[in-house]
Amino acid sequence: MKKHYLLTPGPTPIPLEVALKEALPIFHHRTNEFVTIYKDIAEGLKYVFQTKNEVYTVASSGTGAMEIAVTNLLSLGDEIMVASCGNFGDRWIKIAEGYGVKVISVLVKWGKVVKPADIERVLKVNPNIKAVYVTLTETSTGVVNDIKVIGEIVSKTNAVLVVDAVSGLVGQEFRTDDWKVDVVISGSQKGLMLAPGLAFIVLSDKAWALAESSKIPKFYFDIKKYKKSYGVNETPFTPPVTLILALQESLRLIKERGLENMWNDYKLLAKAARAGMKALGLKLFGEAPCNVVTVACVPVEIGCRIVKILREKYGVSIADGQGDLKGKIIRFAHMGYIGKVDLLVGFACLEMVFAELGVNIEKGKAVAAVEEELLKA
Ligand SMILES: *Cc1c(COP(=O)(O)O)cnc(C)c1O
Repeated sequence: MKKHYLLTPGPTPIPLEVALKEALPIFHHRTNEFVTIYKDIAEGLKYVFQTKNEVYTVASSGTGAMEIAVTNLLSLGDEIMVASCGNFGDRWIKIAEGYGVKVISVLVKWGKVVKPADIERVLKVNPNIKAVYVTLTETSTGVVNDIKVIGEIVSKTNAVLVVDAVSGLVGQEFRTDDWKVDVVISGSQKGLMLAPGLAFIVLSDKAWALAESSKIPKFYFDIKKYKKSYGVNETPFTPPVTLILALQESLRLIKERGLENMWNDYKLLAKAARAGMKALGLKLFGEAPCNVVTVACVPVEIGCRIVKILREKYGVSIADGQGDLKGKIIRFAHMGYIGKVDLLVGFACLEMVFAELGVNIEKGKAVAAVEEELLKA
């Protein structure tokens, strides 16, 4: 028997109040009961996304909403730009190419952020670009892109801006309407503190105009079906009803704390986690670190073993690197239902693992550094 601590960048732990909703009896979704819940959720989602537009809920993981944002805006042979700085940015390229869309990739080295000036330049020489796809917080490298500036640039063109906010929503300041973002997608298992299984998408009027002419074949992921059902407070297909109840509860908790307060809470956790990594003698990875996951470079000889020992011996799960970064970085999440005490647990255990691996560290130093930052709040 081992107590488990989930400190991974998705899925994240979920509050007990939310988890209990999933244990409630299954009820039917074509009922007044569901309509009441659905209306409440509609308002809550608008708040979390900071938009006045309708936010559609789809039963799928976050990638399903990414797929919707490709298949519903475009047609075969259309040209788009993907500005990517990591694994999740690259996923836009794979989805679009899978559907026969022409992709102009604007890539930076992993660890760097997308350069708004590059987006501006590429849009100027390629006026046919229908949409620009970017990521808010790039979970694979821990950086945050400047969506506000990118929104300003793209809004002056005919292209729509599509943002993957799966890991960033709730944890990182993000304002759909104010920042002139046309399409935002997200998922349930990260900042929203829910089990995996729900995806979300919001579209601006500019994006809807594009959606009207989209010819890529689709059925389950046809956003027009979701729009039509939304009008009568329903979903086109059977929703995961208890997960919807859980969503209502998590949205209530977020509202209770206040979105801006939550942004600040994660900002503090991120600061503390960075201090902890430095005190462990690790170099932080990437420029512009985000507030939902802290990424640090680890010696290659012990890279893979840290994550394994941490989980097997102490029941603490953090994440390894993806792709070329495997074994070279560790990713310590502070998104969703991860709080101050979890940070202390994580860093105390990291110290023990480092000691076991023969790394010369001073026990308690990282924990003290984390405490120091947390006490400043
Ligand atoms: C987790 C994540 C996704 C989606 O992953 P799913 O496994 O499909 O839910 C997409 N983008 C980013 C940035 C993510 O962190």
